[in-house]
Amino acid sequence: MATISRREFVITGAGAGLAAAAPRHALGHAPAVLTRQSVSPVVISSANGHRFRNGGTETCVELAFRRIVAGDDVLDSLIAGVNIVELDPEDASVGYGGRPNAEGVVQLDACCMHGPKRRAGGVAALEGVRTPSNVAQAVMDQTDHHLLVGPGAQAFARNMGFEIERDLNTDRSRRMWLEWKRRTDPGHYLDPDRADARRVVEDERLAEALAPDDADADADSDERYGTINCNGISRGGQICGVTTTSGLAWKIPGRVGDSPILGAGLYVDNAVGAAGSTGRGEANLYNLASFLIVEQLRLGMSPKDAGLAALRRIQENTVERRLLNDRGLPNFGVNFYVLNAVGEYAGVSMYAGQNSQYAACTENGAELLPLEPLLDGSARD
Ligand code: ASP
Repeated sequence: MATISRREFVITGAGAGLAAAAPRHALGHAPAVLTRQSVSPVVISSANGHRFRNGGTETCVELAFRRIVAGDDVLDSLIAGVNIVELDPEDASVGYGGRPNAEGVVQLDACCMHGPKRRAGGVAALEGVRTPSNVAQAVMDQTDHHLLVGPGAQAFARNMGFEIERDLNTDRSRRMWLEWKRRTDPGHYLDPDRADARRVVEDERLAEALAPDDADADADSDERYGTINCNGISRGGQICGVTTTSGLAWKIPGRVGDSPILGAGLYVDNAVGAAGSTGRGEANLYNLASFLIVEQLRLGMSPKDAGLAALRRIQENTVERRLLNDRGLPNFGVNFYVLNAVGEYAGVSMYAGQNSQYAACTENGAELLPLEPLLDGSARD
């Protein structure tokens, strides 16, 4: 597994990129000058990158790793991987079948960064395209811009030949939205299956109002959050990353989280490493934590320590009562997936949770690994 031991990690001046790094067996010794050829390729992602197959045989991390090792472009490989999750209707947090906004419309966010090319692209509040990661890549490849949003992003996608669908809801995501409506607006949305529908949903609404933390405190509960971030490095040391999501469930239409924002939902520096996130986007937006993590890697921190330092920053900047639990700690979850330029990696989370895992694929195969938590206990108490 991805335990991070002490290693020396030296970055030299302009243009040199990664000039010196130690192989795993030499960790703990003085810096040794190595070339990028010494990197063991790896792909890491949020746990859904090794949970969904969309009816195929491979998961996101497996496919991306296989293609990277075969010599394909790293970003192309990662995007082909996250396409599996975007297209799988069973993952209700990404792409097609993602949980819609408050008006029942699926609005998607994504971004990608190509380390070697120093290029990036993103889309936000995009409607009608199942794979926003591909549109983000088209923004990167086909425009001078880094971010297109809303109807402009959709018009761009149409012009680039993407199919625009009227509705990206599945029966499942629509049912989830309706259930949410019945709970939050019971006066208008009645549940025909419940004889005393109005009374029951009002009771539930009251219960949620009294204990709001129960509804959305745990990012891993799969209730309102969910995203895939996927980062990879090739044998030649090429680092890329992609993040794609349907964002916060039932969000105010137009709300954009951290996922498509460079430095927040994703950041890649080919000389140093990559970091990306899932979880409460607002906490990450305030702290630009993926950028922060990459800068900590630059200073020589391990992926795990850099990730935990970013979580600590988020904790320190979380002071509003509505965002704190009874212990005065953040009442939400946020995770980071971190990879450095010598192929070391880690996944970190604010709290350990039931589903607190991330995915990694190396030459030894793909596996789900425990996220390293910053805080004890859970977000709720
Ligand atoms: N970070 C995403 C957002 O805030 C949601 C998630 O990852 O769960 O939009």
